Amino acid sequence: MANIRLKNVTKNYKNVNALNQINLEIKDKEFFVLFGPAGAGKTTMLKVIAGIELHQMGDVEFDGKNMNLVEPADRNVSMVFENYALYPHMTVYDNIASPMRSPLYKEKEEYIKKEVHRVSSMMGIDHLLDRLPRQCSNGQRQRVALGRALVRKPRVFLMDEPLAHLDAKLKNLMRTELKGMQQEFDATTIYVTHDYLEALSLGDRIGIINEGQLIQIATGDEVYYSPANEFVAKLVGEPEINIFKSEIVKCDDTYKVLLGGELQPVEEDVLKVLLEKDLDYVDVGIRGNNIEFSLEKGDDSFVEGSVYSLEPIGNKSILIVKVEEELIRLIAPNDLQVELDSKIFIKFDMKNAMYFEHKSKEFITRHNI
Ligand code: ADP
Ligand code: MG
Repeated sequence: MANIRLKNVTKNYKNVNALNQINLEIKDKEFFVLFGPAGAGKTTMLKVIAGIELHQMGDVEFDGKNMNLVEPADRNVSMVFENYALYPHMTVYDNIASPMRSPLYKEKEEYIKKEVHRVSSMMGIDHLLDRLPRQCSNGQRQRVALGRALVRKPRVFLMDEPLAHLDAKLKNLMRTELKGMQQEFDATTIYVTHDYLEALSLGDRIGIINEGQLIQIATGDEVYYSPANEFVAKLVGEPEINIFKSEIVKCDDTYKVLLGGELQPVEEDVLKVLLEKDLDYVDVGIRGNNIEFSLEKGDDSFVEGSVYSLEPIGNKSILIVKVEEELIRLIAPNDLQVELDSKIFIKFDMKNAMYFEHKSKEFITRHNI
């Protein structure tokens, strides 16, 4: 059992503020994802929880018990790093058994055997136990490393970008498998990633961290549809969300914003918030899947542009349309046939627009949720 709590945790390395007053509570047996760009402080947070780095301020608690001065070995925490180093001269069996044979634990061989078989069947690697790491594929080695971390049933399981070095196909497969295994871990898990697909698909809750600060803690849907700020909006979704900096223009009795050189209506409930805040400028965000396109001029709501690029990404393509000097990213089907520089017409789905306060870039509101 372990409920993890960080209270005002601050960690500095010389002049780098790696964690800045982190407050976070993770429930017992929760699968929590910590998501953020490189250098955000993700690994540092795991190390502070594991006790292998000491923080300068604040408290780390497990089940209400202060862990600040508890040695790593006494925390019952297991950590898998991205470079999952296995002992090259030991079989898979011995690699998995190794933590239980360390002088610290020295478990009986009978117990070791039971544990090795328990985790290897969970990871689907029973048939590899006699092999050396070099006789295993990358994905299999990764499973061995995960299995090794799960012996002795840690109460806290920390995974630091465990899929980072796998190729795209294997990564997708392992992601799905990890999702299926979550219940079996039987530990409070923190999974670190900088890959938004992993974050959205794996986490019950996601904590978004940047420059040592937790920016938002929310479900995947909340992160996608109601990002705390522009930074979070840009971090999730492919292609990156389009952001238009716009004046709020009053025409007749309605208010509009300028997107791709054309005025677009602002939804009424959004407008209320904008007016209450007395804003003159706003950043409007529209995701690529909320922009329609047509090769022929449709009604007046379509804006004319030209095809700038078309790049396939798996089962869809990213189409970039140039409108005046702006490049607008949208989603297109894979079989779209267009010539570069040819005319194309796009239409924004303003119902799904997001609004951010222009200077602070905080999320204001989004209609329709
Ligand atoms: P992430 O895992 O999110 O990529 P890290 O937690 O590794 O980020 O690093 C957070 C910040 O702390 C970065 O600016 C990094 O350069 C710095 N940092 C990490 N470890 C050390 C260290 N041992 N000494 C000095 N600076 C460090
Ligand atoms: Mg890291």
